[in-house]
Amino acid sequence: SCKETKHSQTEDGNPTYQNAEASVDDRIEDLMSRMTLEDKVHQMCQYVGLEHMKHAENNITAADLDKNDALGFYPGMLSKDVGILAKEGKIGSFLHVVTPEEANELQKLAQESPLKIPLLIGIDAIHGNGLVSGSTIYPSPISQAATFADDLIKEGSRQTALEMRANGMHWSFTPNIDVLRDPRWGRTGETYGEDPYLVGNMGIATINGLQSSNFSGENNVIACAKHLIAGSSSINGLNASPTDVSKRTLFEIFLPPYRRAVQEANVYSIMAAHNEVAGMPGHMDKFMMNDLMRDRWGFEGFYVSDWNDVSRIALWHHVATDFKQSIEFSVNAGMDMNMHGPVFDKHLIELVNEGKVDEARVDYACRKILEAKFRLGLFENPYVEIEKSKEVNFTEAHQKNALEQARRAIVLQKNKKGFLPLAEKGKGKTIFITGPNANNQTTLGDWVSPQPEENIITMVEGMKSIGEENGYRINYFDSGDRSKEITKANIDRAAYHASHSDIIVLVLGENSFRHDWKRKTTGENIDRATLKLSGNQMKLADKMFELNKPVIIVYVSGSPIAEPWLEQRAAAVVNTWESGAFAGQATAEILFGEVNPSGKLPLTVPRSVGQLQMVYNHKPTAYIHKYNTEKKVPLHPFGFGLSYSKFELSAPKVSKADFAGINDSIEVTVDVSNKGTMDGEEVVQLYIRDDVSSFTRPVKELKGYKRIAVKAGETKSVTIPISAESLAMYDKDFNFVVEPGTFTIMTGNSSADKDLKEIKISVKERITLDKN
Ligand code: BGC
Repeated sequence: SCKETKHSQTEDGNPTYQNAEASVDDRIEDLMSRMTLEDKVHQMCQYVGLEHMKHAENNITAADLDKNDALGFYPGMLSKDVGILAKEGKIGSFLHVVTPEEANELQKLAQESPLKIPLLIGIDAIHGNGLVSGSTIYPSPISQAATFADDLIKEGSRQTALEMRANGMHWSFTPNIDVLRDPRWGRTGETYGEDPYLVGNMGIATINGLQSSNFSGENNVIACAKHLIAGSSSINGLNASPTDVSKRTLFEIFLPPYRRAVQEANVYSIMAAHNEVAGMPGHMDKFMMNDLMRDRWGFEGFYVSDWNDVSRIALWHHVATDFKQSIEFSVNAGMDMNMHGPVFDKHLIELVNEGKVDEARVDYACRKILEAKFRLGLFENPYVEIEKSKEVNFTEAHQKNALEQARRAIVLQKNKKGFLPLAEKGKGKTIFITGPNANNQTTLGDWVSPQPEENIITMVEGMKSIGEENGYRINYFDSGDRSKEITKANIDRAAYHASHSDIIVLVLGENSFRHDWKRKTTGENIDRATLKLSGNQMKLADKMFELNKPVIIVYVSGSPIAEPWLEQRAAAVVNTWESGAFAGQATAEILFGEVNPSGKLPLTVPRSVGQLQMVYNHKPTAYIHKYNTEKKVPLHPFGFGLSYSKFELSAPKVSKADFAGINDSIEVTVDVSNKGTMDGEEVVQLYIRDDVSSFTRPVKELKGYKRIAVKAGETKSVTIPISAESLAMYDKDFNFVVEPGTFTIMTGNSSADKDLKEIKISVKERITLDKN
């Protein structure tokens, strides 16, 4: 314990750490001087919220006890015991607290503890504060990426921060900046897709929206870049299963968004990954957590473990004998907070006393966690006003942003002979709508609790209100909202309705909405062994096609659907991803031509699971040869998405042909003409290829894009800069450099060669951006 004399206090005798006027550094110093080793370790302990625990207690069976790690339940411990720990100051943080009442209740307990250190409350607010009922549900991350509209995403994240703080939450476990390389992974919808640059931009927009510049004050929250690293590329597509990629692939594909989250957005926390990479579990990877992120790239925040993953170092990975040794390895590697539960503190205190963990590591972790609490203003006021939370949730401005995101996220994948938009031409006709995602909250995606019905516009509701305004009759039949349970009887009934209609709208896809685990077909720990539609959906579709009427396919899914034969037969295919609270409105606006579609695919849609790994930014030899029974081209390429307008993009022009020096920049200009009759938005994309390099490089990589509105008949020009970073690669010693030579600059409105026009630039001398 500490000596009285080290404490500082203000003139009125209060401790300095409770003085809002003192600097954050002084406050931390003062508080730490009053803390024992035990107190500091307790700041590193995170627990699950009491309501969540009570739910587990009430629903638990003896058999479940073994699986306690999936339930947020600690054997032998009840929620009231956790409450006592909070009151004794033995808990630093909570997660899964989902009401402002509960947040206040917990903070009150912490205020009864000797040092009155407020709690840091974390939550998975990944596209809105969705685990809290009544929040604004924005489109899921994969949908956000499809907008290619960074500013809109940043604004939505800013709004999420306000909703979180109003509800007593201070830390969002987002952005997930895992670069998606295998869409079998059930968490595909939580990612921003397959491109490191787009993922980085979306991650930065999200972090800046949540944290503002320094996460200070009562309107900001901490962001969390996750999961370090490469769990999005497990060798079998299953969550938490091993990844085995080269160091080069880590640096080129998976790490760039993390480097940028740290260096460009100052992200204050990073979560380690469930998985191992090449034999090293993420939770004890000292090279990754410490040497690379902290020492080389300057990460100044703190690490949080993923759910029970410190204990899994022993339990799952078998590279430690027990929980205690797992903690030793993890904390020594750089881990600062344990998600979640008891015993961590006891072991860590012993480890420090035994000299196996340096106390300086505990001090570091504690200081960072306290810094967050001071900056966020929690020492001044840890509570929220319940009434205010209701005012801040789901405001008009927030709804507007969620709708704007949805309008831009939806990708028109097929439009046979301009079948869409429906608009004027079919007045008086009947549209029949059915399918498992037609009239429920699957459109909200993962990490969302059931929301008040009046806040959500389902596909059927959107079609009814906008379709009827446009003079159509809308007839809906519930085919069963669980894809496995689309029965033969339901298919026959659907066929009956469809035969009395003019147009069929089938709302198909997958389900990551967590209101009912049995209905989920994708999401965390629900991975896909095929990319085809699950359950009996194709049977329903086949029956509809037999009727020889135009069928519009509307997909609701966080991950790609590989059904070429379905798309071939459809009149139109509209991929709506998981477009949030206003999915039904935005989709109907697009079908009826009130909004011109402009979303672009943030990942390649393969034709079959056998084509995986299929990404646009592959190496030059990937497709030298072909398959015997499958094409080697995708169903749809990265960056693709149709419009009701016809955009013509000129060849790129460059401001100069030679790039010289680390601070140089070349401007690339493209003219965009809208040759159609409808105003619209287009996403101009810029790709680069290093023509000859010391290690193989991708055939093309996205390095810039701009979304632009162009009126019918108008031409606008777009300028996208190229920086040294756009040209850089890792050399043999893992320095980040630009090698001399020529580079091909490609611009267009998708990543497909046929949609791109090119120009060359050159670099005369080697440039070093970051030395290893
Ligand atoms: C997920 C994390 C999430 C955490 C807390 C884990 O299972 O991998 O992404 O933040 O749970 O809910």
